[in-house]
Amino acid sequence: MIIDIHSHTWLYPDHFTEQFRQQAAQIAKANQELDLTVTYEAYRAGAQNCDKTIVFGGKARLSGLWVDDHYVAAYVAAHPDKLIGFLSLDPTQDGWEREMAYGHQQLGLQGIKLLSMYAGFYPHDERLDPLWRYATEHRLPVLLHTGTTFVAQAPLDCTLPRHLDPVATRFPDVKIIMAHLSHPYEGECAVVIRKHPNVYADISAIHYRPFQLYHSLMLVQEYGVWHKLFFGSDYPFTTIDASIEGLYALNKMLDGTALPRLDESQIDALINRDSLAILEL
Ligand SMILES: [Zn+2]
Repeated sequence: MIIDIHSHTWLYPDHFTEQFRQQAAQIAKANQELDLTVTYEAYRAGAQNCDKTIVFGGKARLSGLWVDDHYVAAYVAAHPDKLIGFLSLDPTQDGWEREMAYGHQQLGLQGIKLLSMYAGFYPHDERLDPLWRYATEHRLPVLLHTGTTFVAQAPLDCTLPRHLDPVATRFPDVKIIMAHLSHPYEGECAVVIRKHPNVYADISAIHYRPFQLYHSLMLVQEYGVWHKLFFGSDYPFTTIDASIEGLYALNKMLDGTALPRLDESQIDALINRDSLAILEL
């Protein structure tokens, strides 16, 4: 069984500001605008063996991204046997509490996606207590982008894994997933997921920096937290198939060296983990 815990849907370029697209282009190879068009067919073409996929859009006014939850719900409704939708919130914007209840109760979305750095807020800010209380009460998992960005105005400090530590202490029953192993703050990520039973990380969209990923997974191995990792793609930035290939390529990179190997049985377990059972979805 393969579960993709992290994929996107949106209308490109309509759901993005011109400035967001320009900043993305500046950091892309050859200074070309990224084509972030999403179609279910293109997703499936790069996800041969995927059984179920969690999908969300994203809301971050500060960075210039806004995908209405109706759009996500409609995408999910077209393939309900394969897709599970999460709602998105930007708590810096009025009406987010109403959107949370509406997305969950009316649109049937089953978790919450946050972009704290992109939107410019701290997840442990007490103004977000209603969010964490709601997630506790309704057993909604919360997945946050943690890690780097190309958006200049998005404050890096908001992305640090350490800010989830007080959240998990105060709201220990919420299943929290820190996306992208919080790259390049993987060390902080490993110690936060190690100390909190319900805090996890996903490994989406980091295989294309192979030495960094090898190093990050060695941290995971040495801290003994392989079981806290979920598999995900971050489509449309990459695909499931490329992510699996990237994971299995890591040990091959070490040929001819005495460097320690990643435990292949743990890589197999990560790719095949039933994360939906863990998240009670
Ligand atoms: Zn993502």
